[in-house]
Amino acid sequence: PEPRIFRVHLTPLRGPQGGVVALFRDITERRQLEQMRTEFVANASHELRTPLTSIRGFIEALRDGAINEPETARRFLGIIEEETDRLTELVDDLLKLATIEERRNMFGRLPVELPGVVQRAVDTFASRARQKGVALRVELADGLPPVIGDQKLLTQMFINLLDNAVKFTEKGEITIRAAAAEGGVEVEVLDTGAGIAPEHLPRIFERFFRGDKARTQGGTGLGLAIVKHIVEGHGGRIRVMSKPGKGTTFSMFLPA
Ligand code: ADP
Repeated sequence: PEPRIFRVHLTPLRGPQGGVVALFRDITERRQLEQMRTEFVANASHELRTPLTSIRGFIEALRDGAINEPETARRFLGIIEEETDRLTELVDDLLKLATIEERRNMFGRLPVELPGVVQRAVDTFASRARQKGVALRVELADGLPPVIGDQKLLTQMFINLLDNAVKFTEKGEITIRAAAAEGGVEVEVLDTGAGIAPEHLPRIFERFFRGDKARTQGGTGLGLAIVKHIVEGHGGRIRVMSKPGKGTTFSMFLPA
């Protein structure tokens, strides 16, 4: 087991006998939280700094003369634009994560009909999927009970999962499935894409974790951390199964 951390208060006793009272307070959890927060700030700063460094570098190159070569200048401006988009994406995801964590267990508690939510998420990716030759299928059982929660966050959950599914699938199939289960709804998002290496699987819900392929694919490494918070904030559970080269399935239970 992990060693625990105690803060000790010593109070000398007055009187002829003397002696000391020692008060032990277990601060292991607090320390762990502090450490997680420090790590998070360090990671976030690093992720934000990378595009900034690149933007600064290309601006300097332009100023040092590249601006006089139209072809080069256009290319550099393109990179600056991409890096700016990346910063925007990072800041957006960081804000989403922070808001969701702060509101943990205090999400909206209204009945949400999944078909509408799923449709909206699917519409968002229809054209990108088509461009990649990926079929998007929706299989919702009849008479699904409404999920109790926050419609916007549930839409976000599907958007993040579909974003990954489309990103990591070439010419395959993505299926969203939902069926009633005891006390809630069982939802699956399956793809026939690249899959996830077994050694990465336990880490994919960590903030900023990104697989090898993801480095060239864009993304912030925050998408699945956000999904996990949304599912757990709704009192649900999420699991992932994946086979490299075969595909990935995310399964969620959401209370109805
Ligand atoms: P990212 O912004 O990189 O997509 P996520 O938190 O959404 O960040 O995902 C973390 C990592 O998990 C990704 O970088 C990728 O390696 C892996 N991953 C997530 N979803 C899939 C998927 N459907 N297929 C293959 N790999 C995935």
